[in-house]
Amino acid sequence: MEQSQDFYCEPQKKLRVLDRADVLVLGGGPGGLGAAISAARNGARTILVERTGSFGGNWTAGILGAIMPSPHVHGIFKELVTHLANRNSWYQWGDTYGGGGTYDIETAKKILDDVVTSAGIIPYFYTNFSDVIRDGSQVKGVIVESKQGREVIWADQIIDSTGDGDVSVRAGACYEQGRQGDAAMQPMTMIFIMDQVDNDSISPWWHEQPECHQAWKEAKTRGEVTVPREDVLAFQMPRKGQWSINTTRILGKDGTRIRDLTDATIEARRQVAEVVAFLKKYIRGFERAVLSETAPFIGVRETRRIHCDYTITADDILTCPKFDDCLARGSNFIDIHNPKGEGTTLVHPPKGAWYEIPYRSIRVKGIDNLLVASRCLDSTHEAHAAIRVTNQVMAIGEGAGTAAALCVKGGFSGTRELDPALLRQTLRANGAFV
Ligand SMILES: Cc1cc2nc3c(=O)[nH]c(=O)nc-3n(C[C@H](O)[C@H](O)[C@H](O)COP(=O)(O)OP(=O)(O)OC[C@H]3O[C@@H](n4cnc5c(N)ncnc54)[C@H](O)[C@@H]3O)c2cc1C
Repeated sequence: MEQSQDFYCEPQKKLRVLDRADVLVLGGGPGGLGAAISAARNGARTILVERTGSFGGNWTAGILGAIMPSPHVHGIFKELVTHLANRNSWYQWGDTYGGGGTYDIETAKKILDDVVTSAGIIPYFYTNFSDVIRDGSQVKGVIVESKQGREVIWADQIIDSTGDGDVSVRAGACYEQGRQGDAAMQPMTMIFIMDQVDNDSISPWWHEQPECHQAWKEAKTRGEVTVPREDVLAFQMPRKGQWSINTTRILGKDGTRIRDLTDATIEARRQVAEVVAFLKKYIRGFERAVLSETAPFIGVRETRRIHCDYTITADDILTCPKFDDCLARGSNFIDIHNPKGEGTTLVHPPKGAWYEIPYRSIRVKGIDNLLVASRCLDSTHEAHAAIRVTNQVMAIGEGAGTAAALCVKGGFSGTRELDPALLRQTLRANGAFV
């Protein structure tokens, strides 16, 4: 057996086949959910593999809490907002649909379970994607790891919704990370929840309270706060007295490296303690509040961007060209949390306009049957910073799942054989705005 200080060659092993799918979705965040739900509703035998014990990714396991405005995203995401609102679990910003809002995380977990199971999806929790089985330009299946060991899932069409593009990279796809020049990526943040806030003493709109920003600046000057962020970002949740705090900032870490993820998580919890102490000491309404939960994993805004047939650029976000293979629309602004310290760059598309996500930006280059439905689609650092929000990623997932199901129905071995006009027609018929 070949081995050294640095390497070990695994002996060959016969693996059990766990299952077989028409459409296999790896990762159950907003992108994976959109993909799996739409694939199943379009008649494909769909498997959804998720490493945690809930669907929703950053929505639920990441305890995000807030969703940016999305007037140009309809379809499955709009259904979810209706489910949340019907259960008094959606706190909407603005009067009309699309205004963004916060949601109750526990209610969201249950709604997502119900939507996934009623769509007929075959779910596997606590199951990690590990590797692909590639044959020429086709991915024939994947290897997953769980308490049962390493097993195989065969599939006709595969959708990478892992956030970091794990499946695409294992399949040999090329990718980029970070901005041009120094490859720096947006900072990580550990979201945390505070309960028992006195909502009557504080405006629901944090940015309308200059005294809070002043107190933060002064605490930083005194050295009581060392978080490298310019202000406090906090959202009132639908549950009385509950707030989601998006304020920690961990710089210079790579979310695809285990050492960085570990160090960032420890540093983030140190920052959480600092921010909690600050809020309790200086902010009216938080005096008796308690830290009720930190996210079980560090929030990673940006890692790999997988090379597909088209790269979406900042120009596409800001001048909004129309694509004949558009599978999702969005209008969230370019939102770059400074990778090097304080400051956040915000650049908006024209008011009322939408940009378009073309099908070709999710077809992984060099592979026939692999789509990306996740924040790691093909885009520049700047375009990624606009596209990445959850509702838009879910809409992209809805496009990807529909495309994969149509490929299965049409007997196509490759995603490039699908006529984009049929894709858009099917999406429209199912309520998407494309
Ligand atoms: C700190 C922070 C704040 C943000 N704020 C907002 C906000 O206010 N509003 C907003 O709309 N968006 C916000 N975003 C952006 C948004 O959360 C993400 O861009 C979005 O969740 C991306 O969706 P996704 O499905 O690609 O990935 P994710 O939500 O990360 O989901 C990926 C899923 O795949 C699973 N997975 C990963 N690898 C594997 C594997 N190998 N095997 C099996 N499963 C795997 C994960 O467990 C996860 O469930 C924020 C992000 C961060 C980090």
